[in-house]
Amino acid sequence: MSNSFLSTSIEYLKGVGPKRADILKKELRIFTYDHLINHFPFRYIDRSKIHKIKDVNSSEIHIQLRGKITRVSETGVKQGKRLIAYLQDDTGEMQLIWFKGAKWVKPKLIIGKEFIVFGKPTQFNNSFNLVHPDFEEKPKENEQVAALQPVYNSSEKANATGLNSKGIEKLTKTITPLLRQQIPETLSVALIKELKLMPRELAYQQIHHPTNPELLKKAIFRLKFDEFFFLQMRILKQKVVQEKKLKGFVFEKVGESFNSFYTKNLPFELTNAQKRVVKEIRNNVGSGKHMNRLLQGDVGSGKTLVGLLAMLLAKDNGYQSLMMAPTEILATQHFTSISKYLENTGVTILLLTGSTKVAQRRIIHAQLLSGELDILIGTHALLEDIVQFKNLGLSIIDEQHRFGVKQRSKLWQKNTIPPHILVMTATPIPRTLAMTVYGDLDISVIDELPPGRKEVTTIHKFDKDRLYVFNFMEKQIAEGRQVYVVYPLIEESEHLDFKDLMDGYESMARRFPLPQYKLSIVHGKMKAKDKEYEMQQFVKGITQIMVATTVIEVGVNVPNATVMVIESANKFGLSQLHQLRGRVGRGSDKSYCVLMTDYKLSPTAKTRIETMVRTTDGFEIAEEDLKLRGPGDIMGTQQSGVLDLKLGDLIKDNKIVVAARNYASELLKKDPELTLQEHYLVRQRLAELIKKKPNWGRIS
Ligand code: ADP
Ligand code: MG
Repeated sequence: MSNSFLSTSIEYLKGVGPKRADILKKELRIFTYDHLINHFPFRYIDRSKIHKIKDVNSSEIHIQLRGKITRVSETGVKQGKRLIAYLQDDTGEMQLIWFKGAKWVKPKLIIGKEFIVFGKPTQFNNSFNLVHPDFEEKPKENEQVAALQPVYNSSEKANATGLNSKGIEKLTKTITPLLRQQIPETLSVALIKELKLMPRELAYQQIHHPTNPELLKKAIFRLKFDEFFFLQMRILKQKVVQEKKLKGFVFEKVGESFNSFYTKNLPFELTNAQKRVVKEIRNNVGSGKHMNRLLQGDVGSGKTLVGLLAMLLAKDNGYQSLMMAPTEILATQHFTSISKYLENTGVTILLLTGSTKVAQRRIIHAQLLSGELDILIGTHALLEDIVQFKNLGLSIIDEQHRFGVKQRSKLWQKNTIPPHILVMTATPIPRTLAMTVYGDLDISVIDELPPGRKEVTTIHKFDKDRLYVFNFMEKQIAEGRQVYVVYPLIEESEHLDFKDLMDGYESMARRFPLPQYKLSIVHGKMKAKDKEYEMQQFVKGITQIMVATTVIEVGVNVPNATVMVIESANKFGLSQLHQLRGRVGRGSDKSYCVLMTDYKLSPTAKTRIETMVRTTDGFEIAEEDLKLRGPGDIMGTQQSGVLDLKLGDLIKDNKIVVAARNYASELLKKDPELTLQEHYLVRQRLAELIKKKPNWGRIS
């Protein structure tokens, strides 16, 4: 780092020394002054507010009391041993309890002296007490007390050596006065003025030791903005660099395959959203720029077809394509439906999965190398090194969230220059978030469902209403419709789930007996061939009920199925429930999704079920999901390091993210190399950040 003050080793700070420095480094990763000032408080105690003992009626918040210690006693033995002090104010009395450390605490609790005590109340029987509260002698009248006291994260080991929140507060108190003239500005004067941002130096002082809530708010905003702004700068710069560096195959003409399919074989009109996205793809692949694009579209929005059109473009320009799906069922289904679409077009297509026979594999490998084969559909099997193409021009990945970063990057290497990449997902995420976590991807969105779809009605039923649900299924089947019944599959308790599934299947078979009814069953323990057979029975309408685990979650398309019953729905995540529900409502008949649970529901499970009943909007569901789970969890991007944000929250601070993105993008448009004098500070800061963290692997 350029600034020598900030890079000073933490042991040189007054009050630290080698021993504590060691703890700070090992436990809190604080090696330098810079690390210390970036160890932000995670909350603040409002010390201006003194609570009255008689008003304490909730264990929700931290409180601060002022009173005298009236008695101190030690009771219990061994584990039950504890120190109890009684604090009295003019409204009542409260117990302060210590289970540990009585030796240190007791001598300080002088009876009759006034103390300020704070902590989080715990309810015990009908009264509240404070366990292990912080306390200090009441300040003298003329002594200044910070209204907002910072609270810092620490670790158990650091705590034990006095580097608890209080200890860290002392260190930040020591360092903040030293920051004058030492925190370089990072943004242009114009931007700071336009957004009325607090100077960075002041922001660092205020975030640790705020003068008042308003200044604290401004300080947090300033530092969050910095964080997001430079995150976006890095993403956008990388994108610009890549676009320059990465040449893409040029699909310049729209030829015979595309046109004849479009005019003769396409069974319906594309939706406007599909048309728009096809155009976006065409512009991209026709430009000589490498395409790296995310296609978002809700379940059933018709992404497959868009993928097919892109593959036909590739074919018309002399390139081969592949489409990879996460499960064998889905790959097989894509193969079947796309083969049908391609009848009489002369475009060749084959399927490669884990269960493809050796002889067939040989044929595929040979045809790929000779160029006879235009399109290869498959599962992970496509990634194997032995699968080589004559001229792969486009790789499509369906349900991309199911694949890891490594797997996806393998597809880049299947030709001398990387093929165009189109990743498709039905897990919609807010656009700003997508732009951030998927860094260098361009994004296309299909935000419209094909016409004639009826909204799926979702109902929540308790297990005891099973008879009602069975009767409902019977009615639907009598009308010629088909039904899915899905059981959860959770890896840790695979055994139990399997038993649930089998029990469920049996009771279903009793209620819907042969010969009038026929049932299919599909689960993960079956051979691929058997799964496929059972699926086909259902697809052809020979069986009316499909009992399955979540293997059918993604992509499966049986338009005649109108009921989706989800057993133990509380065990599923929101996006899974949404995916499952998307299996129905694909035809012209009114469809239903029934969420079965028992009475006991955790608060988050309850929220998930309520969300599903309330809305079918994939984006709304995704947002709720993000709130419940946090973004890292959803995209499996934690390892990417992109979400390594200290202050900002990509969801809650969405507005700041958007603003930061816009300003960053505007700035780069005006001055891509950051050579203008007014951008000198930005350039410097960016260089510093890149130096700190250079390994910013490709995320997509
Ligand atoms: P998803 O986006 O979930 O992958 P699919 O590609 O499986 O959706 O399409 C869902 C269904 O909608 C398929 O049966 C497909 O044939 C049909 N479909 C796709 N586009 C249209 C359209 N423009 N008009 C009518 N039906 C369409
Ligand atoms: Mg799909």
